Amino acid sequence: MDKTVIRFRHCGKYIYRFSDQNATSCSFYKQNQSCAQSDLCPICHEPLVLGLLDAPVAIPYPFTNGHQVSCAFLIGAKDGPSSLRESQESELHVGLSNTKGLVYNYTLSGVRTDEHGWEQCICMQLVPPWRDALSDSWDKELQLFSTLPTWIPELFHEEREFGSCCYGFALTFINHMRSLDIKGSLSRDEFTGMHVLPRMKQATMYIKVYEEILQHGFYIVDKDILSLVSASGK
Ligand SMILES: [Zn+2]
Repeated sequence: MDKTVIRFRHCGKYIYRFSDQNATSCSFYKQNQSCAQSDLCPICHEPLVLGLLDAPVAIPYPFTNGHQVSCAFLIGAKDGPSSLRESQESELHVGLSNTKGLVYNYTLSGVRTDEHGWEQCICMQLVPPWRDALSDSWDKELQLFSTLPTWIPELFHEEREFGSCCYGFALTFINHMRSLDIKGSLSRDEFTGMHVLPRMKQATMYIKVYEEILQHGFYIVDKDILSLVSASGK
């Protein structure tokens, strides 16, 4: 997913397509010479003359390099960002970054600290960068926490019965840090509802729009689904 998705309005609809779309970028345009020019509206086939409020807007890419965001909760997928969608939850893996870009995650072989592999993930920074003391203790606490006997390989399967095991590792640590910051614990449902689901929805929509554009050259809807999701996800 290396193209930028843009959105504009025409004919009363919201139209998504790639910013650099041209005649060779999709099969639809090859078949339909009338649409070969990317400056035509795919509905009315008129040249696009866009007003201020209809001007193209770039849709933010929902995936981030988790090694470059400190103290963050990360959701990654084995098969790359295109499988980061709600319907494929079983393929998802979560981890926690420290301030040095190391990603701690609980797996079948115990806790791993990855220097690579989380370059394209859904990323939620949990400690604001200006809270130096909390960031410092995050690194120390995470290092200690990952050596606890709770996170040995042998217990990985047992924990699985209660949901995803990597998730349990991350959420237990987040609650530990919240308690040091004199904040109450979050249940799995609370954390998922507040932080995970809105971001997963946004990513799912983005992937859907991206795949539609790949297939048809554009994607037309009545409502601006991607902005709606990002607004409600904040
Ligand atoms: Zn039009």
